[in-house]
Amino acid sequence: MIEYNYDFLHESVFALSSGSSIKSLLITATSVPWLRSQLCRETNFMNRFNQFCLSLTLMVGISACSESTKPGVNNKIDSAAAAKPAAATIDSQRLSDIVKVLASDEFEGRAPGGPGEAKTITFLVEQFQSIGLEPGGVDGTWTQSVPLIHTQLAQNGKLSVAIGDTNQTWQQGIDVAISTARAVDKVDINAAPLVFVGFGASAPERDWDDFGDIDLKGKVAVFLVNDPDFSASADEPVAGKFGNKRMTYYGRWTYKYEEAARRGALAALVIHENKAAGYGWNVAASSPGEKFALAQTSGPLPPLLQGWLHYDAATALFAAAGLDLAEQRQRARRDDFSAFELPQVSLNAAFDVALEKIESQNVLARLPGTTQADETLMVSSHWDAYGQGKPDAQGRTVRPGANDDALGTAGVIELARVLKAGTPMARSVVFAVWTAEESGLLGSAAYATQPIYPLHSTVANFTLDILQTAGPARDVILVGEGQSDLEDDLVRAAALQSRVVTPENLPENGLFFRADHFSLARQGVPVLLIMGIAGGADLVDGGRAAGDQWIADYTGNCYHQTCDAWSADWDLRGAIDDIELFHSILRELGDSTRWPQWKAGSEFRATRAQTNDLRATP
Ligand SMILES: [Zn+2]
Repeated sequence: MIEYNYDFLHESVFALSSGSSIKSLLITATSVPWLRSQLCRETNFMNRFNQFCLSLTLMVGISACSESTKPGVNNKIDSAAAAKPAAATIDSQRLSDIVKVLASDEFEGRAPGGPGEAKTITFLVEQFQSIGLEPGGVDGTWTQSVPLIHTQLAQNGKLSVAIGDTNQTWQQGIDVAISTARAVDKVDINAAPLVFVGFGASAPERDWDDFGDIDLKGKVAVFLVNDPDFSASADEPVAGKFGNKRMTYYGRWTYKYEEAARRGALAALVIHENKAAGYGWNVAASSPGEKFALAQTSGPLPPLLQGWLHYDAATALFAAAGLDLAEQRQRARRDDFSAFELPQVSLNAAFDVALEKIESQNVLARLPGTTQADETLMVSSHWDAYGQGKPDAQGRTVRPGANDDALGTAGVIELARVLKAGTPMARSVVFAVWTAEESGLLGSAAYATQPIYPLHSTVANFTLDILQTAGPARDVILVGEGQSDLEDDLVRAAALQSRVVTPENLPENGLFFRADHFSLARQGVPVLLIMGIAGGADLVDGGRAAGDQWIADYTGNCYHQTCDAWSADWDLRGAIDDIELFHSILRELGDSTRWPQWKAGSEFRATRAQTNDLRATP
């Protein structure tokens, strides 16, 4: 899952050329001695790889497997399982072996555009190919290119607000934490008016609009964090209008920046509050000035500047403009609130920008359906992790992302193998392993804006992001309760395992909006996420306390750190049960004409409804 700090380093970024095909990746792969030996040395692998290497040889005209094979294997994966005909089940050894490869030092923490990318993609393609899937990417390839930008505002930039005759200077990291998501080498803003837009929600299905007829072009939109009823008391009319404590998408900062972009705002600032944001200023300001974004070629451009405004700086700004921020916050919870320009206030900004372009790839494989092949079920994870960073106490620099999300990726590969080995299904399944999740769900967002398979006929997306490794559990944690009827499928699938579904315990943190499934959800595709850190599972051995302890240990020590590493001691029985939940739902939907539905209160129902008439059955 994605957090808020984009602190991973790109010391040795190399960009794959934009036209890079799988063929050139294979050439790269087979010219790297380590990878060639990895691909070719294992006797267990030889039958499968003979076939693979033969096609390699045919494709690239070189003898990829001429090196002699060696015994004594690091990255052994049992291909016998791949050859099993029917009734295949998720295989613990294969999960472990796949993670061991992806999380090995050779993959260097799998930073998008980094040295581990080509190895990762080659490995994933080889896995899907050996299972017998067809390429699911663009133009018959296994990939979809994802052009990214990485920007860094110069430290010595200038930012201030003029209020009448007075001036307030804002310091990066102290008063603001801002960056740019535009591919620019300079940010220059002169005397742009500031508009207070309240919570900035434009929610027709809730009969709510904070904007009125105000024009944001050339202006700075100033937002409150979270949604209008988050801190409302029960007797305020707004209470319950935005899911009470549960965060709706209108509460997410990403929504606010997108709304600012749709309205042509020059800049967007969100006033930070600890409780309503769900984390402190230290997290909000952990990487000031740095941003990863899609290199956007269409759609509304993101604001030139975007980021957090410290609550104290915002209070001082409002006071200087003759307004009381706390009082304005109250007013913004009323449905008669409308955005207004702060009188006589304007913003000036001047920053040089270090801009880097990165070409990364999503990996996609397809299992074609029989009679409803143009209806697509999607199974997803993300291959990227945090690359390399500062050495830890043991001198380790690679942040291998083993649980997050090599294990989810292994789950996707195992689902592919098991579904392929089973009875063919009417509907197709696309297995998508995204890039750049940790930089802001970017690989999945790239797909969702330029889908290879139409989204209106995409039945549902199932995402695995972090699986727990602490053993079997009596329940599975549901993220995003009340969103779609896929949660009812989850209840049924869990019952088959004598398990129950437990809703996440902190819905106000908006986890539902913080993993790749969400990129599909916001385009209207019903989604289901399994995330091992969404809440402590009720473990068979040790109960909820043990589940909570596993999460505390993992998030406290290893999450996004060097110790998120493969271990021979993992107990994968719980992870396998979770993957099997998806398996049974996929099997059921795979031979069904049913289209999962968003529930009545969901903010994504209206988007899906726009294409209702394109689906054969409601
Ligand atoms: Zn993740």
